[in-house]
Amino acid sequence: MIPVNTPVLDGNEKKYLLECIETGWISSEGPFVDKFEQEFASYVDRKYAVSVSNGSDALDLAVFVLGLEPGDEVILPTFTIISCMSQILRQGIVPVFVDCDPGTFNIDVNKIEELITEKTKAIMAVHIYGLPVEMDRIEFLCNKYNLLLIEDAAEMHGQTYNNRKCGSFGDISIFSFYPNKHITTGEGGMIVTNNECLFNRIKSLKNLAFLPERRFVHHELGWNMRLTNMQAAIGVAQLEKIENIIKQKRHIGNTYNESLKNLKSVQLPIKHTDYAENIYWVYPLVITDDCELDASQVMKMLALKGIGTRPFFYPLHMQPVLEKYSFRRSDSLQNSEKIAEKGFYIPSGLGVTVEQMEYVSESLMEIFK
Ligand SMILES: *Cc1c(COP(=O)(O)O)cnc(C)c1O
Repeated sequence: MIPVNTPVLDGNEKKYLLECIETGWISSEGPFVDKFEQEFASYVDRKYAVSVSNGSDALDLAVFVLGLEPGDEVILPTFTIISCMSQILRQGIVPVFVDCDPGTFNIDVNKIEELITEKTKAIMAVHIYGLPVEMDRIEFLCNKYNLLLIEDAAEMHGQTYNNRKCGSFGDISIFSFYPNKHITTGEGGMIVTNNECLFNRIKSLKNLAFLPERRFVHHELGWNMRLTNMQAAIGVAQLEKIENIIKQKRHIGNTYNESLKNLKSVQLPIKHTDYAENIYWVYPLVITDDCELDASQVMKMLALKGIGTRPFFYPLHMQPVLEKYSFRRSDSLQNSEKIAEKGFYIPSGLGVTVEQMEYVSESLMEIFK
């Protein structure tokens, strides 16, 4: 089976991990944690970074520290992962779902303003699959209506929007280091901000909200979301290679662009927009309307040929869990509904070989001939 993703750990990962073992620093107190946070903050042009256990925790904590009240509303895309709305719902905040653009898969920035009310307190921008959200438009709305901006850059390490780093926008941004992301720590996440108050709150809350002057005394409840020194060691080694990683991901994307350019009935990813070049977090394909096959059928055919795939996100507004919560939505969310049914992605992790990409392309050409 050709896996949909294979991570590559061929830099200093092993050396730094050995250092953890030899020095005994395996918990979150080891020196790689600070180093990873500082280097990551500087890489994404933020003042502060706090490591956490994963990207979902990062989102939970980022939403929590904004101090929103039950009944407040947060506008976010429906085409994204559940983690974007989990804490919103837990806190009794009302999610307001917006459709995606059918080409970039990102939130349709033209559909946001009509949903803003006095209850709207924040916009969550989520960069999907490789191209960034049109952040100028989001920033304009946040300024005009005095809204907080949360940026989910979990899939966007090293990507830029008009030469500004993804992860440097708005009040607070998050990243994930799951093994299919551009850089990985196995499991891991990061919250970045320029706001010192938020930074201090996040640092405290992710570590059980210990009182600095008297350990084991707590004025509020926190969580243990600490990243270990071993994970941070891998992260430091990965960050050293990030420019090459992005180059390689673009190379993988462009290889498929070329070998699939004559593929019928399938929409290939957009290579670039006015403000960014795709970094192909995944290589997404959408079966077009003239073809009766849906993604699950094609994924089964590919599996029979030994090719791993993943379906697209399942829209948030259709999640069964929402039955227990209140939410608002645009009238039409049809682009997201359609790509959830017609979209899937193919092996494009850093470890994919030229032969594997050729085999995947040939198999697709055969299925859609
Ligand atoms: C991966 C991902 C997350 C969650 O990160 P985990 O580390 O897997 O918890 C959040 N948002 C987006 C857009 C993601 O792609």
